[in-house]
Order: sequence, then C-alpha cells, then structure tokens
Amino acid sequence: MLEICQEGGQVRGAVVHEDGQIRLIACGALVLASGGFGGLFTHRLTSDDVSGSVQSIALNSGAELVNLEFMQIMPGYLSPIYKTVFNEKTFRFAQLTDSFDLPLLLEMDQAQELLDERAGYGPFTSRLKSRLVDLALFKAQQADPGGVTVAYAREMIEHPPELIRTYFEWMAKAKHLTMSEPAKIGLFAHAANGGIRIDTTAATRVPGLFACGEATGGMHGADRIGGLSTANGLVFGGIAGHSAARFARENPARESLTCEFSVVAAPETADSLTELRELMYRAALVIRTKKGLEQALAQLDQIADRLQAIAPSSPAEKPADTKSLAASCRLKNQLQTARSILTAANLRCESRGSHFRGDHPEQDPAQASPIVVSLREGSIQARFLSQADI
Ligand SMILES: Cc1cc2nc3c(=O)[nH]c(=O)nc-3n(C[C@H](O)[C@H](O)[C@H](O)COP(=O)(O)OP(=O)(O)OC[C@H]3O[C@@H](n4cnc5c(N)ncnc54)[C@H](O)[C@@H]3O)c2cc1C
Repeated sequence: MLEICQEGGQVRGAVVHEDGQIRLIACGALVLASGGFGGLFTHRLTSDDVSGSVQSIALNSGAELVNLEFMQIMPGYLSPIYKTVFNEKTFRFAQLTDSFDLPLLLEMDQAQELLDERAGYGPFTSRLKSRLVDLALFKAQQADPGGVTVAYAREMIEHPPELIRTYFEWMAKAKHLTMSEPAKIGLFAHAANGGIRIDTTAATRVPGLFACGEATGGMHGADRIGGLSTANGLVFGGIAGHSAARFARENPARESLTCEFSVVAAPETADSLTELRELMYRAALVIRTKKGLEQALAQLDQIADRLQAIAPSSPAEKPADTKSLAASCRLKNQLQTARSILTAANLRCESRGSHFRGDHPEQDPAQASPIVVSLREGSIQARFLSQADI
C-alpha cells in the first residue's frame, strides 16, 4: 500500500503497487496491519518488508502516532550467523571481550552481578542497573562495528541449563554454531512498542481507518512484557476486523472512485535508505541525546532535499517503472516515520522503558504520560498527552 484515498476525511480506498501495476482499490473500511518499523535501522531482527512506511501513510491521512520512542532492542549475532537472536539467558555465563581483547565490563564494579541480572530478562530496558551491559555493548560496537566477542564459561558448556541446551541444540542444527565456538554479538532493533494510535475498538481518529498488531502503539507502554506482541496481534486483529466490517456495512465501497496520486521516482533510493538506517541506528536506537537526535533530524532534511533536487520535476519529464515509483513513495514515507520517531525521542527528556537518553539517564515522574505525534500543515508535531486527553 502506498497511499490512503479519502473523501471528506473518510477512507474510501487505497493506492497499491501490485503485480507491476499501481492501482486503486475501493473499500468501505481499511485495517492497517503492516507491522512495526524495524526496517528503519541498520541492524534489525525483523524481515525487510517491515518497512515502517505505513505509520507515515496513516499520519498523512489524519491519524495520530503514539509511543514511537519506545523501540525494543535485543542482542543478536553479527557473525558468523548474522541476524540471529542471542539467548540472553546465557549472559550469566558469558565472557564478553572488545576488539582489544579486553573484558567488556572491565571498569565496572560487580560486573558478574550485572550479567546475572541481565540474564533474567529481554529485551533491553533502561529501568534496571544491568542496562550498563547493553550500553557497553553499544559503545564497543561504535568503536568496532564488528561487535563484541562472546565465549562461555566451562561450567555452561559442560552443564547447560535446559533452556540454554535446547537453544544450542537448535543452533547447531539450524545455524551450525555450537556453544564452544566464539561468536560476535551486537544490538539489533527488535519490535516497536509504538505506532498508530487506536482506541479500544481498534479505530483511529480517521473515519473508516482501523489498525492492529505491531503497526499500532500504546498497548504495551514503555516496556513490553515478552510474548505480548502476539497476544496484541490476536486480540486487536479480531477487534479491528469486526469494527471494520461493521463500519463497511454502513459505508459500502464506492462503485467508481478516483484519487489523485502523484509521485515521481527519485534515483538513489537504495543509497538514501542505507543512510537513513545508519543515522537511525546511530542516533535513535540505544543511546539517544539531544545533540545526536538533532543532528539526525538535520541529516534527514539533507536526504529529503537531495532527493527533491535530483528527482525529475514531473512524472511526464522522465517516466519511471512502477517499481521505482513505489520505492520512492516508500522511502518518502520511511523518512517521515523516522522524523516522527526522532521528534518524539527528542521531546522525552528522561529514560523510561526501552527509551534511554544519555543526557537524561534517570526516569522523571513528571513525564509519565504518552507522547502523541500528529501532522499539522505538513509538519510533525509531538505533544505529551494530558489526563484530559486520555
Ligand atoms: C526475532 C523476533 C522474535 C520475536 N519473538 C517474539 C515472541 O517471542 N513473542 C511475541 O509476542 N513477539 C515476538 N516478536 C514480535 C512479533 O513477532 C511481532 O510484533 C509480530 O509478529 C507482529 O505481527 P504483525 O502481524 O503486527 O506484523 P508482521 O508480522 O510484521 O506483518 C506485517 C505485514 O505487513 C506487510 N506490510 C508492510 N508494509 C506494507 C505496506 N505498505 N503495504 C502492504 N503490506 C505491508 C508486511 O509485508 C507483513 O506481511 C518477535 C519479533 C522478532 C523480530
């Protein structure tokens, strides 16, 4: 899906790229179930189709986004089995060394206690002292993108606890890695806790527009409890289906529908997407600061300006294939979702859940409410929800 078609604010259809064609599909109601925004970060555990473009499409239609700054982060293998989830339970047996072969937590008191605590949960949270393990991992990765070497204590190799043993049995079979072989790990974008704002009927504030699953935000708060993403998808998927069917029964799809859809194909979308992912990984994943977030916002402006400057001024000037048009449209939306995330992360001047601010490392009770992002006259606006809003 590339765009939502509306009449008088109400959803009437969607523009899609399908089978090499761009076409308009009329509908009475629309459910967005397009996943999170892992695709905006260099290292991600999600598949590449989880692009983060639909959050921006929803924003363009008048919907709001919520809790965007709460992106879950998990350690994963950088080599030899790139993009495989690391078993956090093994942290308590792990010997972590940086690119100089020095222990990762060398200068920290009670390093083993931190690893023991970090072995008890996943993904990253700024709430516990063991956040220092993830922060050290990220800093080491910034110094050497190859990551941190992990090897295991003899105790674990000889007597692995059950959940570690079964994990490595699977690893040996599926990925050909045993627990005796050293490997390199780093941090990955995992799942979004934020997204399109819905109510208890899965409705957005746009008539006829519903959403569910990881595309939505708000249900998990700042720290999702493991397993609840699947539960969220099942529960709100069902609710969204019922709500949309009810709405569509009362508002049947138009037999004939027209929609203005104007996009020009910008060259170099692949390079720009790589640049976008790198800046988001650097500034908006693990350690966020005002300076880093503002630099990232400025870099987004530069990418957008560059795309504008090199794109033909009208579709007629240089006709493009539909794949390039769809890629340009997707990138434009990914840039806007990224801008929304950076804006929300910049507004939240505290650390809470998966959101860690290097310049505001503690939680601030005065900021204990969600941040909502909306589009006003083409520009992104972020605000804290007041009790009256909730
Ligand atoms: C490695 C890993 C492990 C996880 N483990 C767990 C776990 O143990 N428990 C748990 O609860 N959760 C877990 N999660 C999170 C959970 O898997 C996801 O949140 C969940 O699958 C999201 O489901 P969804 O249906 O909302 O979105 P997805 O499954 O991401 O599906 C979205 C679909 O929308 C499509 N799409 C995207 N953009 C567009 C567009 N513009 N137009 C049309 N279609 C589009 C995509 O191609 C995709 O098919 C894990 C995630 C990862 C990455």
